Amino acid sequence: MVNEVEQSVPLSSRISGAIWATMMATMGSMAIRDEDIVVLEAPAVKRSEAVYLPAIVKGLGVTMRHMLHAFGRDGKGKYQSVIQYPEERRELQDVLDGGMHKANFRGVHRLNKDSHERVKCVACFMCATACPANCIHIVADESPWDDREKYPKKFDIDELRCIYCGMCEEACPCDAIELTPEYAITGLTRNEMIFDKSKLLEVFDQTIIDKPM
Ligand code: SF4
Ligand code: SF4
Repeated sequence: MVNEVEQSVPLSSRISGAIWATMMATMGSMAIRDEDIVVLEAPAVKRSEAVYLPAIVKGLGVTMRHMLHAFGRDGKGKYQSVIQYPEERRELQDVLDGGMHKANFRGVHRLNKDSHERVKCVACFMCATACPANCIHIVADESPWDDREKYPKKFDIDELRCIYCGMCEEACPCDAIELTPEYAITGLTRNEMIFDKSKLLEVFDQTIIDKPM
C-alpha cells in the first residue's frame, strides 16, 4: 500500500530520470498525427428533407398501420389481434401470431422453494428496494435454519399495485422471487389480491411444471 509520504511526492520524482524520459518519449510518439485525422462533412440536406416531409409521411404511415392493426386487421384482411378468450388463449398461440412466450412472460409472482421445500428467500429486502411500485412488504426474522441468517416471517405482494416490471426478479440474489406465466387471477376484494407468503408458495407449486426454475 502506498503510504502518505509517497503519495505527496510527485510521480516523476519517484521514477528514475532515464525511465521517466523513455515514458515521455513513448507517449509523445503515440500522439495522433494530422494526416490520421479524418474530417467528416455533414451530408447535404435536400429541400424536402429540410421541411421533414418524408419523415412526417413515414410517421403517419406507421400510425395508420398500428391503427389498422389495433382494429384487428393487418392490411390483408386477416384478424390478428382479437382472440376469443377464454376459448382461445395466448399461451396456446405462436408468438408471431400474437401469442405469449411462457419463458419470459411476466405474470403473477411466486416464491420459490429449495430442494428441502423451504422458502428460498433470505429476507435481504433487495426486491422491495428495487420495486418501483412499492408493493412488496417483508417482515424478516431470525432463520430457524443454519444455512442463512434471516428468513421472511411475512412476505406480501400487492398484485393490484404491481406493474409487472420484473425488477424484483432481477434484483433477487438467490432466485427466490419469480414472475410466472400465470395471468388469470381474480379476487372479489382488494385484500384478496394481496398475496401473502403461503399464497406465493402455493403459486410455486402450481406453476413449477409450466416454468421450471
Ligand atoms: S414486478 Fe415490478 S412492480 Fe411488481 S413487485 Fe416486482 S418490482 Fe414491484
Ligand atoms: S425475494 Fe429475493 S430479493 Fe426479495 S427479500 Fe427474498 S431473497 Fe431478497
